[in-house]
Amino acid sequence: MPRLRALCVYCASSQRCDPRYHATAALLGRSAAERGVEIVYGGGQVGLMGAVADAALSAGGRVTGVIPEHLIVKELGHGRLTELVVVESMHERKREMFERADAFAILPGGLGTLDETFEILTWRQLGLHDKPIVLLNDGGYWQPLLDLIAHQVRENFVRPEHAGQMHVADSVDALFALLEALPGQRGESDTERF
Ligand code: AMP
Repeated sequence: MPRLRALCVYCASSQRCDPRYHATAALLGRSAAERGVEIVYGGGQVGLMGAVADAALSAGGRVTGVIPEHLIVKELGHGRLTELVVVESMHERKREMFERADAFAILPGGLGTLDETFEILTWRQLGLHDKPIVLLNDGGYWQPLLDLIAHQVRENFVRPEHAGQMHVADSVDALFALLEALPGQRGESDTERF
């Protein structure tokens, strides 16, 4: 039994981004499946979201999508998931994704991805959880965000220890290596932690 059981993935719904981002998203989905790690994500069929889900399913992995009813048409709710949880609101979606996951991976994305990332990061800053958070800085996509956070630390608006709660990986392998090495994951003996 792997220590990491369910990984929540936040990523783009955009279909228009460079195909190399889709390739990394697919690699993450496949790698999770190969490691026996369930994917928890926003339940869409479009963009990087769809790429992660499709690749994980093709590799025999378990994929749970959580989607609000009003987005089923817009984000094309995925029809082949292991489980599709339909919720009423965005807040409910984020809560459900949070509760089902042991850790969080952030892939390239837009404003929705930023919203999800900062919510989970600020919840951790407030001590509401201690689940690992890893940003996949695919091709340097997130560098402007990392530079902004470093600026915030320098200007004393963000504590270094809070900024450090988001780990950074530059490849899918590095992301899983980090997650496997970090404390705070749900193991058979510490299920009660979360
Ligand atoms: P994006 O990064 O904008 O492509 O969005 C990625 C995912 O985040 C999509 O599933 C969006 O539905 C979702 N999303 C967009 N806006 C929000 C929001 N305010 N809160 C939570 N999720 C959002």
